[in-house]
Amino acid sequence: MTFDPPVTCPVCEEVLELDRELEDHLVEKHTQREVARYVVSREDRTEPEALVR
Ligand SMILES: [Zn+2]
Repeated sequence: MTFDPPVTCPVCEEVLELDRELEDHLVEKHTQREVARYVVSREDRTEPEALVR
C-alpha cells in the first residue's frame, strides 16, 4: 500500500487529492499565462532556500 501525500497547486496553493488532478486543475482553473508566469518566477530563483534564510 502506498500513500500519496496531498498535492498542492503551485499557482493558487489549493490542495489537490491526486497528482494527476494537478494537470486537470492547471488546465481548467488556470490560464496558460498564469502557469507560465509561475514557471518564469520560479526559474528566476536559482536557490529558493537562500531566500528563506
Ligand atoms: Zn490552482
